[in-house]
Amino acid sequence: MKMTQWINTRTPEELDRDARQLFDDHFGTKPAGVWAAPGRVNVIGDHVDYAGGVSIPFALTQMTALAVRLRSDQRVRIISQAPGAIDPLSFEMELSEVGPKHPDNWAGYVVGVLWAGQQSGIWPNCPGMDIAIVSDVPVGSGLSSSAALECAIAVAAFELTHGHAPSQEERGQLVPVCMRAENDVVGASTGGLDQRASLFGVAGKALVIDFHADTVTLVPFDLAAQDMVLLVADTNAPHALNDGQYASRRGIIDEVSLALVGEGKTLREIAAEQALSQADAWAIEQGLDASIVRRRLQHVVEETQRTLKAAEALQDADMAAFRQYMQESHESLRDLYEVVTEELESAFQAAGRFGARMTGGGFGGSVIVLLPESEVEDTVAQISRAAADAGFPECSFLLAVPGDGARRLS
Ligand code: ADP
Ligand code: MG
Repeated sequence: MKMTQWINTRTPEELDRDARQLFDDHFGTKPAGVWAAPGRVNVIGDHVDYAGGVSIPFALTQMTALAVRLRSDQRVRIISQAPGAIDPLSFEMELSEVGPKHPDNWAGYVVGVLWAGQQSGIWPNCPGMDIAIVSDVPVGSGLSSSAALECAIAVAAFELTHGHAPSQEERGQLVPVCMRAENDVVGASTGGLDQRASLFGVAGKALVIDFHADTVTLVPFDLAAQDMVLLVADTNAPHALNDGQYASRRGIIDEVSLALVGEGKTLREIAAEQALSQADAWAIEQGLDASIVRRRLQHVVEETQRTLKAAEALQDADMAAFRQYMQESHESLRDLYEVVTEELESAFQAAGRFGARMTGGGFGGSVIVLLPESEVEDTVAQISRAAADAGFPECSFLLAVPGDGARRLS
């Protein structure tokens, strides 16, 4: 019989030790310090961050940790031991060479943040850096290894150039810096959910992020008190958010929003029914497939309404209602937004009698299941069996627990 694959999770102390070791092995000296930032799981509210909607994520206890030392010559040298990879990746670049699509690889998430912070004046004269990265955040699994990487380098660069850790307000300024690295340098048009979750996460809490009001409110997410857990099933069918599919969904919403409410405003400024009825006429006028436009918009509008109701259910500790919203959210992402792959659907169906949904951008990645702790073993077996029967990759699993946001480890 095959063993279930549980995703490896080190303690902060272990990550700190391993980042220092990698730094020493590679650069032959000691770092100035070690900083870390978590991945996140989005519990409900997907594909609404770029549309002024509402999402409820929390920061994971799985983190990406960076040992860093400043250099005086504007060069950046990086070594990264990514989870699951056998050999570490290495990279080197002059900071002055960084820009849109430069570099065109994984290191763009790191040097892109240094570049964006410099461009926005947060660290006007960014020196060079040596950086050693270790991580337990699965890559390309919808758990935002990208934001973990960006936010870890952002808090490190902030503290090394300002001499103090970022305050809450200064963390807020790091959000657009990290987003710019992802949007402009890497070229993934994501909407800011991930960076907020990674920077503002608090142990034991979920975050209600309102992208229209630009607020982050903490709500209790203490599943253990109810003998419940949040199981994450990574389908190991990796997604790529910069391959055009994500951008095409976002493109429609951006355009329809511009036409209906205007520049710099969000769809929340008009009634849902009004948005939906006007979208039909607009799509026909544009020569677009009105049924596609309508389905995409319906998802965005209803997912936001659903997530607001889910936030109330969490406040009231009404987990039965919350589970129902999770199911509906998945169905909407599948039928209206069409970002659910066969692998995700297989895991969703296998866990279907509990609250389950895909999480993150879709097109691969993970499914989450809210269930009693006593049901974990059977559910893991069912999801694994369904994947095996369909000839899909083997799933791996973790139990998601709300952890703290980006911070210095040592
Ligand atoms: P997700 O954020 O859901 O994991 P993305 O496609 O947004 O998926 O980001 C994954 C990309 O981020 C990887 O393909 C890689 O380029 C980069 N990345 C994330 N973590 C690491 C790491 N520890 N080392 C190197 N690159 C990483
Ligand atoms: Mg990402």
